[in-house]
Amino acid sequence: MATMTEPQRDLPIAGEYDVVVCGGGTAGVPAAIAAARQGAKVALIERYGFVGGVPAYSIMPCWHGLRGNHSGILTEFVNRVVEFGQGPNPLTEHDHMEPETVKIIGLKMLLEAGVEIHLHNWLAGVIKEGDRIVAAVTESKSGRRAFKAKTFVDATGDGDLSAYAGAGFTKGVDGKMQGVTLRFRIGHVDFDRYFDWVGENMEYYKTISTAEDVARLRQHSKDGTAFYLGADLTPLYNEHPERDLPAHTYFNCSSIRPGELSVNSTRIYGIDGTIEEDLTKAEITCRPQAYAIWQFLRDFIPGFEKSMMVDVPAQVGVRETRSIIGEYILSEAECRANQEFEDSIMTAQIMFDAHDIDRYLLEVLKGAVDIPIGCFLPKGTEGLVVVGRCISSDHIANSGIRKMESVFQTGQAGGTIAAMAALKQQPLRDLDVTEVRDVLKKGEFRVSQENRYLHQDDVIGLKRETWLANRKPKKWANEMFKAE
Ligand SMILES: Cc1cc2nc3c(=O)[nH]c(=O)nc-3n(C[C@H](O)[C@H](O)[C@H](O)COP(=O)(O)OP(=O)(O)OC[C@H]3O[C@@H](n4cnc5c(N)ncnc54)[C@H](O)[C@@H]3O)c2cc1C
Repeated sequence: MATMTEPQRDLPIAGEYDVVVCGGGTAGVPAAIAAARQGAKVALIERYGFVGGVPAYSIMPCWHGLRGNHSGILTEFVNRVVEFGQGPNPLTEHDHMEPETVKIIGLKMLLEAGVEIHLHNWLAGVIKEGDRIVAAVTESKSGRRAFKAKTFVDATGDGDLSAYAGAGFTKGVDGKMQGVTLRFRIGHVDFDRYFDWVGENMEYYKTISTAEDVARLRQHSKDGTAFYLGADLTPLYNEHPERDLPAHTYFNCSSIRPGELSVNSTRIYGIDGTIEEDLTKAEITCRPQAYAIWQFLRDFIPGFEKSMMVDVPAQVGVRETRSIIGEYILSEAECRANQEFEDSIMTAQIMFDAHDIDRYLLEVLKGAVDIPIGCFLPKGTEGLVVVGRCISSDHIANSGIRKMESVFQTGQAGGTIAAMAALKQQPLRDLDVTEVRDVLKKGEFRVSQENRYLHQDDVIGLKRETWLANRKPKKWANEMFKAE
């Protein structure tokens, strides 16, 4: 690409902080709260006019694995959502949270923690001294400004801050990343008529197989409680080649409000979510797909006749971009082995969910995996912590960690180490991991599988007994369950 030289200029310093968190999403919100609760002066930089990330701007309601693995700030967050009382109860209604509730609870908890919030503010670069970042450079209506800090947290999902800082990264497999989807919500669905049709057309449905299943979902729709339903409507789509319907997709729905379906069904592959032209192509492709799918339902599926499109979100949902190369790279094999690490600072329940063009891998693993501190520390940088879906991991491990329950908990772990290093004026790599773990445990946070526990009888769809019977025996597990 041809280049031009922008004249050098002095930037106003917007503020000086202990910790600056870039990105106010799934991981960024808990990262900023955790850092502020350690006593750090924290600024949060977010490009949108609200916080929450994918569950808010991409209206993604399903927090897979939440009931089986929540601790620390996530437990508080979930309890606040339940108390707020708008939308489903995520602890009893299939791990679902209402996107608007996520936005407002995230905002309230940040303000209560004393975080200085800067919305409508794009991270646009960094200023470094050697390997150390000394300022995040942002663009907003106020112009280009510098936010100085002792440590920085990259919570942009895409690893923008780490990339600006010169950290290495991988992108999917040989640059091929997971497919991109624009979700949408359809309102005024007549569920009674729809479930009559579902009962007569079970062959399309992947997540239910009996009349009892249909009756159970019908009851949820009557009660206005959340439910999930997955189908493959390709054979029906194929009967209507005149319609502009997407290929390689499924009709994957959650209902989180009475009479409404939240649909995960549009799709485009070959997109790099860090390239503007690719994002534009994804929007241009997926927005018409959303309307084509809704119009197809309205015209051909009973129950949708009077339905309407009520919500198409701010942007396409990007599942995968950069995975930052850290001091440690978590692998698929380690997830499969329920690996434990002495220097782990969090634990993730693993469900591989890789929407690759060549194959779709969906696999729920038994148990959990520990995540060592090295996955949060981008190699070759100082004063920088990475959290969220772009932490250091291989493609398949990443497809598991990107689930919101895990991502949220990377935020608390990463925000805590960022604050500890800033307040002690110590390099991140000199932190005493035992002390880090103790600090996190004080916040009721699960730092490894050793202090893992179960809240519910039902762990990601498996009965607790089945889960236990199938689980690889481990000393701590046997002890824990004997005690119960
Ligand atoms: C279509 C789709 C379906 C999914 N389905 C599920 C599911 O069923 N269950 C599940 O648990 N997970 C699911 N996920 C995964 C999960 O939602 C994400 O992996 C997770 O939310 C990512 O969190 P994050 O904090 O890393 O990024 P985000 O939540 O995207 O947060 C990043 C934040 O940084 C901001 N930002 C980005 N760049 C900049 C910048 N340069 N300057 C300023 N701000 C910036 C963004 O606006 C955002 O607020 C799905 C994801 C997608 C896209």
